[in-house]
Amino acid sequence: MAKTSGLKLHFYGGAEAVTGVNYLLEAKGAKILVDCGLFQGSRELEARNSQPFAYDAKEIDAVIITHSHLDHIGKLPQLISAGFGGKIYATPPAVDFTRLILEDSVRVLAEKARHAGVVPLFSQEEVDEVMSRFVAVDYYKKTKAAKGIEFTFHDAGHILGSAIVEVDAAGPPSPKGSGRVNKKIVFSGDLGHPPAPLLRAPDYLTQADYILVESTYGDKNHESPEEGEEKVENAIEDTVARGGVLMIPSFAMERTQQLLYHLNNLVEHKRIPRVPIFIDSPLATHITEVYKKYPQYYNKKAVFEIDSGDDVFNFPGLRFTVSSKESKEINDSPSPKVIIAGSGMSQGGRIVHHEVRYLSDPRNTLLMVGYQAEGTLGRRLADGQKRVEVLDQAIEVKAKIEKISGYSAHADQSYLMDWVKSFKKVGSPDGGEASHELKKVFVVQGENGPSSALASLIRDELGILAQVPKMGEVAELD
Ligand SMILES: [Zn+2]
Repeated sequence: MAKTSGLKLHFYGGAEAVTGVNYLLEAKGAKILVDCGLFQGSRELEARNSQPFAYDAKEIDAVIITHSHLDHIGKLPQLISAGFGGKIYATPPAVDFTRLILEDSVRVLAEKARHAGVVPLFSQEEVDEVMSRFVAVDYYKKTKAAKGIEFTFHDAGHILGSAIVEVDAAGPPSPKGSGRVNKKIVFSGDLGHPPAPLLRAPDYLTQADYILVESTYGDKNHESPEEGEEKVENAIEDTVARGGVLMIPSFAMERTQQLLYHLNNLVEHKRIPRVPIFIDSPLATHITEVYKKYPQYYNKKAVFEIDSGDDVFNFPGLRFTVSSKESKEINDSPSPKVIIAGSGMSQGGRIVHHEVRYLSDPRNTLLMVGYQAEGTLGRRLADGQKRVEVLDQAIEVKAKIEKISGYSAHADQSYLMDWVKSFKKVGSPDGGEASHELKKVFVVQGENGPSSALASLIRDELGILAQVPKMGEVAELD
């Protein structure tokens, strides 16, 4: 009978879905999680967030976090309440962002729960406990997570501090008789789409026995980032020429900082007229402060600009409005002006107050820089609806509606294929590291269509076994 290594990988989330990412790796009795995120999207999917874990949280030795988006970290507070007693590992920026994102969620969840008459998913006390368990680990530093399990972070280029996780786990007993064979499992996390403002390109790795690759855009290719930047410039010029207001609903993390970085360049090179630009989001303001703390993780171009004396998140005309009093004062500032505010899909947040005020004036523009999910106000506006309901008011949409897709934080199909292609069989001619032959690719973190499309392409073009795991499935890593 073939010996099994005892290495097992459980897919508890991020399988057949983009969100709720949660993998459990078992090796020689040790158990670790990679990511522990909330499901986001349809009501059915989000209903899973209040269900208990399918495993015993007390048996988990450690958690490794790829990055600080809620669909990768949002269930950490519940893991603590369920009895998890170990450490949580993430890069230094990811630790700081996690605190901001979870604390903001406490506020949002409390509001939601009040409306629905239910108990919020978690509270500030649990978030404080989560934060006390974090250990910041830098990129490229091999670290022990549990008995027989070590990991190394590599740059994933998706948001600041995002990581690809390379795990070295003790596999089956070595045929030479002493010790165990080391197996390499690489978790892609979310991979970025280079070249991105500020961020480095995702690292290419070459060795692994098994990889998990994300597939949000497993079936699509993006327009170029340059095209997106040009559209921002044009939208500002056109709106200013009409004496209007440009509203940009934006995600607080990454998208807002990328916009700021880009606007900084446009202002400093005098490519756009000087108008007031408001960042009307306390969360985005706090996240930008974290960005300022970690310039060492930016790409070469951004580092060069900072070294030559440029404050990339500050330029004439820019104002961060944190208090609600400051936010309301934006109304008094005469047009033309630019307002960047959350939420990114116009589902709540300060942007909706501006939309109520400005959507019915044809001089104004609403520019959408991110994905607009079905069922959201952002989607209805993107689809061209002329009458919408915002904050219980019927609004006639006369403002210009524009969309950009080039700002995506996720790799597209051709980039994902390139990333997978870089894994190849590597021998050990110098007697160094043992060789690893890629046996299988698990295509995860995508809807069924994109995941299956990427899996077929990997099988057909690269001749590598590729599978879309089902939710709850267990894979033996022999
Ligand atoms: Zn992400």
